[in-house]
Amino acid sequence: METPVFRAIIRSEDFKNKYPALGKILEANEPEKWYTCPMHPEIRGKFNDKCPQCGMPLTLSAPLL
Ligand SMILES: [Zn+2]
Repeated sequence: METPVFRAIIRSEDFKNKYPALGKILEANEPEKWYTCPMHPEIRGKFNDKCPQCGMPLTLSAPLL
């Protein structure tokens, strides 16, 4: 059951430091949280991913509405 409080917790740096693997899984399953390439907006990935076309690190995109 996801709640705003739960989301805030799993996004906190403290949580990620304690449970890096779990944090990554949870992040990957957050549909509104995507990282995109500044040069190729169609590219979507996760934190620490790089664009397959130009190699630039992906940046956090605006939430998808
Ligand atoms: Zn790119």
